[in-house]
Amino acid sequence: MSTVETVNGPIDAAEMGVTLIHEHLRFRDEAVAENWPGRYDEQAELDAAVEEIRSAQGHGVKTIVDPTAMFGGRDVRFLKKCADETGINVVACTGIYTYDYLPHYFENRDEDAIAAHFVDDIEKGTQGTDIKSAFIKCAADAAGVTEHVEKVHRACARASVQTGAPIMAHSMPAVQTGPRQVEIFLEEGVAPEKIQIAHCGDSPDVEYVQGILDKGVYVGLDRYGLPMFLPTDQRNAVTAELLRRGHAERVVISQDYCASIDWFPPEVQDVLRGNTDMIDGWSFTLVFEQVVPWLREQGVMDDDTFNTVFVENPARWLGR
Ligand SMILES: [Zn+2]
Repeated sequence: MSTVETVNGPIDAAEMGVTLIHEHLRFRDEAVAENWPGRYDEQAELDAAVEEIRSAQGHGVKTIVDPTAMFGGRDVRFLKKCADETGINVVACTGIYTYDYLPHYFENRDEDAIAAHFVDDIEKGTQGTDIKSAFIKCAADAAGVTEHVEKVHRACARASVQTGAPIMAHSMPAVQTGPRQVEIFLEEGVAPEKIQIAHCGDSPDVEYVQGILDKGVYVGLDRYGLPMFLPTDQRNAVTAELLRRGHAERVVISQDYCASIDWFPPEVQDVLRGNTDMIDGWSFTLVFEQVVPWLREQGVMDDDTFNTVFVENPARWLGR
């Protein structure tokens, strides 16, 4: 029996049920929020998260995995409030979400010292609470795998090897960061089945995703609803082909939805959400409303496959 840490303590991995593997209950810059708290409405943020969670629960979702790390406004107390109000399981992470920038604090410490921070979150508790982080997050984006990004990846890898906690790495298929990210983790001795390369679903190129799958890792087809990176029909084509090729056991499907996000002023967010070339149906429920039904119609997702992708894969990746 393997267990998974949630914001309300450990559960049997087999109890996770239908799981959304990559959704954000809130995404914001913690430095801005700390310095100008009056610019944020915590109750409105909580209400937005709870409303989305309840919609997901309407589709049978029992667990939400929230990969909001440092620089995304990680706040396990907020996640616990969401869990307590709705009864859903929420799984929290440690790690650093940076495309290159590192504070001097981490710039002047080595990989092992950084890893020790992650290990503390996993083994002792996170942000001064007894909530244990269940996985480790890092990122590579348009700048590629820079020196700083590589350092963070190696720190994540060492914390993973030490604790058995899995890694989720944000990637950018447009500049093909995935293969190098996998290579670093494997060099550090991380088990392939503990690695998840997020955002592979932004690629229209099934062979690119296949190349990453060939290393034995999980691929995230996890930004449904964001045509600004790739429209739903093109995502679906890749997802269907991967299932047809028999990769159900290494595929996870999600939306990377942010119940609230501070990246844009509200009026710009409204414009983006009103433009279906940018954002289309983005929510905690799009995959159940549009994607799964379409995959079923294509004959590539029966009940067993649904169970593999949405129940067994998250439990296998997270359980330890
Ligand atoms: Zn994300």
